[in-house]
Amino acid sequence: MTLTEIMQTLPYGPAPEAAQPAMDWLKAHKGKFQLFIAGKWRTPASREWFATINPANGQKLAEVALANATDVDKAVKAARKAFVEWSQTRGHVRARYLYAMARQIQKHARLFAVLETLDNGKPIRETRDIDIPLVARHFYYHAGWAQLMESELAGYAPLGVVGQIIPWNFPLLMLAWKVAPALAMGNTVVLKPAEFTPLTALLFAEICQNIGLPPGVVNIITGDGKTGAALVEHPGVDKIAFTGSTEVGRIIRKATAGSGKKLSLELGGKSPFVVFEDADLDSAVEGVVDAIWFNQGQVCCAGSRLLVQEGIAEKMYAKLRARMEKLRVGDPLDKAVDLGAIIAPVQLEKIQRLVQKGVEEGAKLWQPSWAVPAEGCFYPPTLFTEVAPASTIAQEEIFGPVLAALTFRTPEEAVRLANNTRYGLAASIWSEDINLALDVATQIKAGTIWINSTNLFDAASGFGGYRESGFGREGGREGLWEYVKKIEQHRTAQGQSSARGLTAKASAESLPPIDRTAKLFIGGKQVRPDSGYSKAVHAPDGRLVGEVGLGNRKDIRNAVEAARAAQEGWRKTAAHSKAQILYFLAENLSQRAEEFARRLSEQTGQDGGAEVEAALEALFTAAAWADKYEGLVHPTPLRNVTLAIPEPIGVMGILCPDDQPLLALARLAGTALAMGNTLVVVPSPLAPLSATDFYQVLETSDVPAGTFNIVTGERDELALTLAEHDDVDAVWYAGPQAGWALVEKASTGNMKRTWTLPSSGPLPDTEEILRQATQVKNIWVPYGA
Ligand code: ADP
Repeated sequence: MTLTEIMQTLPYGPAPEAAQPAMDWLKAHKGKFQLFIAGKWRTPASREWFATINPANGQKLAEVALANATDVDKAVKAARKAFVEWSQTRGHVRARYLYAMARQIQKHARLFAVLETLDNGKPIRETRDIDIPLVARHFYYHAGWAQLMESELAGYAPLGVVGQIIPWNFPLLMLAWKVAPALAMGNTVVLKPAEFTPLTALLFAEICQNIGLPPGVVNIITGDGKTGAALVEHPGVDKIAFTGSTEVGRIIRKATAGSGKKLSLELGGKSPFVVFEDADLDSAVEGVVDAIWFNQGQVCCAGSRLLVQEGIAEKMYAKLRARMEKLRVGDPLDKAVDLGAIIAPVQLEKIQRLVQKGVEEGAKLWQPSWAVPAEGCFYPPTLFTEVAPASTIAQEEIFGPVLAALTFRTPEEAVRLANNTRYGLAASIWSEDINLALDVATQIKAGTIWINSTNLFDAASGFGGYRESGFGREGGREGLWEYVKKIEQHRTAQGQSSARGLTAKASAESLPPIDRTAKLFIGGKQVRPDSGYSKAVHAPDGRLVGEVGLGNRKDIRNAVEAARAAQEGWRKTAAHSKAQILYFLAENLSQRAEEFARRLSEQTGQDGGAEVEAALEALFTAAAWADKYEGLVHPTPLRNVTLAIPEPIGVMGILCPDDQPLLALARLAGTALAMGNTLVVVPSPLAPLSATDFYQVLETSDVPAGTFNIVTGERDELALTLAEHDDVDAVWYAGPQAGWALVEKASTGNMKRTWTLPSSGPLPDTEEILRQATQVKNIWVPYGA
C-alpha cells in the first residue's frame, strides 16, 4: 500500500493489547484453580474441574474447580464463622479493607482488564475503560458506606451470610456490585461466578488474600447451575443476591419461598430506546451503538427495542446503517475493535435462531456488507425494521447485537409501546425537549431511565428492575437496604405497645345485634360476595360477634380490576391531595372512635380505645409522609443529575395480621396508599369487623372508587389468588409461616414483589413500610449545551 493510499483510506492497523501478563498469571497457577474457602485454596470435594475457554479463539485458558453441595456447605460454614467477628468489626475497619480492595484493583487494572477480555470476549476498550474502573469505583464508594453505616443506618444490622450468584456478561463488575455493599454492611459472602467467566473472580480472591482480609469473609466457589442451586438451598444462607436470566430467577424465587431468606433478583430486560423527532439524531445514533452493541448486546439493560417517531424513522435508519457499516468486529484484544466475541457457541446459536425467527415473522433484516471472522464466536451488528410489536424479536430478550426497530406517532403511543413488555429494567429517551423527556420518563415502567444518554452506570446510583426484570436495587443508598435488617428492639413504638397487653372487658350490653352481615368493598361499592356464603366472627371467648362475607377468587379478581383501573389516576393525584384524603380518613374515623373501640374490644379482648388512637396516629403519619417521602439526587460523575425517585409499585394485595387489626390496616394500607398504590386488602380472618366497619369511613372520605378495596374471607385462599394474579404488582402477607412459602412460590408468574410478616407481634416501622411500598426509579439527565 502506498502512502497516498494509506492517507486516503486510513485503514486500521492491528493494535493488540498484550495478552502475556495474563497468560503468565494463568501459568503461575499451572492453569488450574481450586476453590477459595476460608482464605485458602482448597481442592473441591467433587474432585472435578471444568475448562474455561477464550470465546474469541476457542482455546482453553484454564481449568477451574466444580464445587458440589459439600463444597458449598464448607464455604457457607466458613462465612458463618467469619461473620461472628466481621459483623462486629467497626465500620471504619471494614472501610479500610474495602478501600484496600479498590486500591489493589486499580493497581492491577490492566491485568484484570486483559484477563476479563480473554475469558469473556468483550473488547479490551470496554474492560479497560468501563468494567474495571467501575469496579474500583464501587469498592471506593462502598468503603464510604462502611464508614458511615453507624451514623447513617443506625438501628440496622447486617443479615449474615449472603449467597451471591452472578452471570458472565460483566463478570468482575457484577462481583463488585454484590460483594462491595454486602461487606460494607458487615455481611460475609459466598460468591459463585458464572461458569463461562470465573477467572477475574479468582484473581479477586488473591487480592483478598493479599490485603489480609480475615479468612471466610469472602469465599469464591466456581461451578455451574447445580452449584448455584446448592447455594440457594443451603439453610445457612441468610440472603441470596442473584443476577441472571428471568428463568433462573423464577427457580430461585420458588426455591427460597417461605425460607425467610432475603432475596434480590436482577433479571432480564427488553429495554426501549425511544427517539422523538426533535432529538439530536447523530447523538441518538451513537446512543444506539452504545445501547445495543456495547458488550455485543449481551447486556441485561441493552436498548434492544428502538422506538422511533414515524417522521424521522427512515432518516434515522439510514444514519444507523451508515454507522453500522463502519463498526468493527474482531479480536477483542485489539484496541480499535468495537464488538468482540459472543460468550459461547450456545449463545451464538440462540442469537442465530432468534434472528431466523425474526425473518420468518416478517421483519426486515439488515447487516453490514463485511463478514465477521470465521474463527471464534462472532456475530455482526444487526438491525431489524418493520418489526411487529407482538413479534418474538420485539418481546424476547436476545442477548446479542440485534436491534428491533418499531415506529410510533405520538408520545402516548411511544409510552404504550415502551411498556408493552413483561420486563422493566431500563429505558433511554431522546428529545431536546426536557418537558417531553421527563414526562415520558415518569410514565415508562423501568428502574433506570436515561435521558439523551444510555448505559450510564455508577456506584452512587441504584440499578434494578420493575416487573419481571426483578426486584431490589444495587448501588446508591437504596442498594444498602438489601444487605441490612432492622435490629429488633423492645421499644415502645408509637402507639403500638400502648395498645398491647391491655385487656378490656367487653360487657354484654356492648354487643351489637347479630343481624348485619358486612359485604365486600370493591370499586367504591359494597357488594355481595360471589360465593353467597358468610362466615362467623367470634370473640376470643368464643361468643359470636358478627358475620362477614366469604370472598373468593372471583371477588379478588374484581377487586384487582378495580384497583388497576384506579391506579393511574391515584398515582397521578398530587401528593398534597393524597395527604388530604388520608387526614380526612383519620378525621372520619375519629368521629366514630367509640364505636370502633367497642368493636375492637369485642373481637380481640384488648383495649380498643388505645388501638383506635394508635390507628389515628398511623393515618396521620401516612398523611404526613405522602408529600414528604423524597427521592435523592445521586452524585454520579459527569455533568448530569441523577434523580432517584420513589414511585408507587402499583396494585398491591395486603393480607393483614391478626393482632391490632385496625392499627395494622391503618399502618400498612394507609402507608401504601400514601405512596400512590391502589389496594386489595384482606383483613385478618380473626378480626375482620373493624375493616368492614371501615367501609363507611372510606365512603365518606373522598377516597376514589377502586383505590382501596376490601375482601374478607380465608386468608390463604385469597392470598394465593392475589399472588398468582399477573396484574398484581406486590403482595404483603402477614400470616403463619406456611403461608409465606405459598405466597412466594405463587408470585413467580409476573415476579411480583412479596413481603412476608408474622401474623402477630409488633408491626414494622413506617420507614420500612414506606420502602416496601415504593420502588426507586433513577433518571439520568445529562446537561450542557
Ligand atoms: P445467563 O443468561 O446470564 O447465562 P443464567 O441465569 O443462566 O443467566 O446464569 C446466571 C448464573 O446463575 C450463573 O452463575 C449460573 O451458574 C447460575 N445458575 C444457573 N442455574 C441455576 C440454578 N438453578 N440455581 C442457582 N443458580 C443457577
